[in-house]
Formats: sequence, structure tokens, C-alpha cells
Amino acid sequence: MDIEILIRASAFALVFAAMAAWEIVAPRRKLTAGRKPRWPSNLGILVVDVLVVRVLVPTAAVGAALFAAGRGWGLLHLAGLRLSVAALLGFLVLDLTIYAQHVVFHKVPALWRLHRMHHADLDIDVTTGLRFHPFEILISLGVKVAIVLAFGIPVVAVLLFEVVLNATSIFNHANVAMPAALDRVLRLVLVTPDMHRVHHSIVRRETDSNYGFNLLWWDRLFGTYRAAPQAGHERMTIGLPIFRDPKELRLDRLLTQPFRDPGAVEPERT
Ligand SMILES: [Zn+2]
Ligand SMILES: [Zn+2]
Repeated sequence: MDIEILIRASAFALVFAAMAAWEIVAPRRKLTAGRKPRWPSNLGILVVDVLVVRVLVPTAAVGAALFAAGRGWGLLHLAGLRLSVAALLGFLVLDLTIYAQHVVFHKVPALWRLHRMHHADLDIDVTTGLRFHPFEILISLGVKVAIVLAFGIPVVAVLLFEVVLNATSIFNHANVAMPAALDRVLRLVLVTPDMHRVHHSIVRRETDSNYGFNLLWWDRLFGTYRAAPQAGHERMTIGLPIFRDPKELRLDRLLTQPFRDPGAVEPERT
């Protein structure tokens, strides 16, 4: 398990540093709220999430995969597939699960309350990719563990998926300018920063599109793909119609956003 943490933490640090440097050298958009009010909170919520998971969850998805492998549990074990085939299928099953879970987090009002904190960031950059409410992280972990056990997904596929998901979340939230040709080639397979930025638009029909995190195919397949924001990448507004007060970027506010409606917190003064 220590090796798992080491692999995941080093991959995270490497990708984060590289993408943050790219953002500084070649930014895609001018930030509106900037880094100063956002980075401490967005990095702070990552620390909260890691601590909550460490304290409350006895084993992560990789632990569930080890457990399933030891007992021969799950559909992929029962099918008796070669490890390489089972790992590839397992990876695809996990990616489709994360896509479907993301759609559900948008459609079910109680879950949207948790997930909308991710969308309430007033800019989108590398740290937005880390900004998830701890309750959403716990639910997501529970779903992943259930899928890993049900399918008996191989340990190598689960570990690879966790590392890749972490890296692509940082990558596709990055505020980086990328040659249009490179964006086009990557979009044959992957979700790119320009594609995921559409998902952070203030316009609801754009928010409710491009749910994928790794592979672009699920959005294509299920008709939720949107190539670009209507207002253009430079002019589009990032965030939600609610929680636009810069005070809402504070860490304590992020944690309480699911349980508040802005009208109740900031009553109209006459
Ligand atoms: Zn979303
Ligand atoms: Zn996002």
C-alpha cells in the first residue's frame, strides 16, 4: 500500500508541476479571480479530502482489487480472461463508471449540491481539477470499490486508472494554450482542456455536457459531446450563476456550499 501511495503522489506532483508551469508560460485565458484567492482553498480542499479518506476509509480501490484477486471474485475472474484483456476491459469499465457517475451527480438534485462546489470556481485551472467536496470523494470511492469487486478488476488496471484519472483531471482543467492541431489529435481519444472548459461554462446546457474525464468516447457515444462554448473560450464565463461572491472561494465556504443557498446567506439588503 505504501508503494501505491508513493506512485500516486509522485505522478501527481510531476503532472501538477508540469501543467502549472505550462499555465504560467502559455495561459489560454486571462484569469478573472486569479490564483491568490483560489489556490490556497483549492489545494486546502485536496488536503481535507486526503485526510477524510485516510481516516474514514479502510481501503482504497486498489485494496478492493487485491481483495477480489485473492478470492477470485468478479465477472472478469469468472470469465477466465488473460490478464492483459481483463486489465484493458477493467480500465474501460472504470472510465465508463466515472462518466456515468458524473452524469448522475448533475441530474440528481441532492448530488448536484455536492458536485456544484466543483463548478462554483470562478476560474478554471490546474487546481480546479482537485476541487471536489469530501462527500463527493467518499461516494465516488464507494462506487469504485463496488465496481472493482463486482467485476474483479485486476490490481494493475485499478492502480493505473487511479494514476491516470488524477493526471487527466489536472491536465483537462489546466488553463493552457495548445496548438489547435494538437487539440484535434488528442480529441480522437482524450478529453482536452478546451473540451472540459465547456463543462465549466455558466450556461447550463454547456455545464451539462462533456462529462468525460479520461476518454472522450463516452460523450460521443451518449450524445453529451459539445465541441466548444458558444461565447468562445476567451469570452465565456466560468462558474455558476450562484456563488459568484469572491468570498465563496474561501475553504470554509467550499465545505458548506452544499448545505447553503446563496439567497439564504446573502439576503438582499434594501
Ligand atoms: Zn460536473
Ligand atoms: Zn471539472
